[in-house]
Amino acid sequence: MSEDLPLNDLAVYLEYLSRHVPTFALPKPPSGRGKSGDREPLYEEEGTDPLIALRVKAEACQACPLSETRNKVVFGEGSGRTGLMFVGEGPGADEDRTGRPFVGRAGDLLTRMIVAMGLKREDVYIANTVKCRPPGNRVPTPAERAACFPYLREQIRALKPRFMILLGQTAAQALLPDSESISRLRGTECRIVDFPDIRVIPTYHPAYLLRNPEAKKVVWKDLQTVMGWMNLPVDHGDRKE
Ligand code: SF4
Repeated sequence: MSEDLPLNDLAVYLEYLSRHVPTFALPKPPSGRGKSGDREPLYEEEGTDPLIALRVKAEACQACPLSETRNKVVFGEGSGRTGLMFVGEGPGADEDRTGRPFVGRAGDLLTRMIVAMGLKREDVYIANTVKCRPPGNRVPTPAERAACFPYLREQIRALKPRFMILLGQTAAQALLPDSESISRLRGTECRIVDFPDIRVIPTYHPAYLLRNPEAKKVVWKDLQTVMGWMNLPVDHGDRKE
């Protein structure tokens, strides 16, 4: 797959949606190319949702071998209205079955983490580095990650989050320029080269926390850091989960 999503295909989907979804208005085409973070949004007209078109595209995607074994594409969900986006690794069995991100045991824990921050799950956006389940829950290969990256990048462009929490090594590797281990990166404020305005913090994946509950304390610290960025009331007491 080329680095950019083929916009002519995207245009076909937009055309399809404009014809078949009564509330969907055909958006303006992109107006120019520059540095990704500086680029004008692909879709600006009021009432249009670029994520709909991108989801349609992902659901038909066969750009990497994960398409052969998936049941459902797990695109992402949430309003993102708080400006906070979570990025995890990839779908597991429960996500592959339901088509929703973070719905298994690790998802329950992520939901509790979001609530502990004083937020609702539906007010953040949750996505993964790859949209289709790696068989046996293995780590996505660099080639699979690269094939799927344009979807994640377009999600970020469309949502324009102000804060991002990267859950685990794979998400950090996908978005950050250095390849430090998550144990060294976690808790440090980072920047994504193409999106320098987003304040980013890597931390441990909830699945890791299920196996290593003693790490919950440091993850809570990381969440508190983000709460400070978001001007949310920060509880300085210890937290078990
Ligand atoms: S993982 Fe991503 S690139 Fe691979 S088939 Fe699924 S949507 Fe396409």
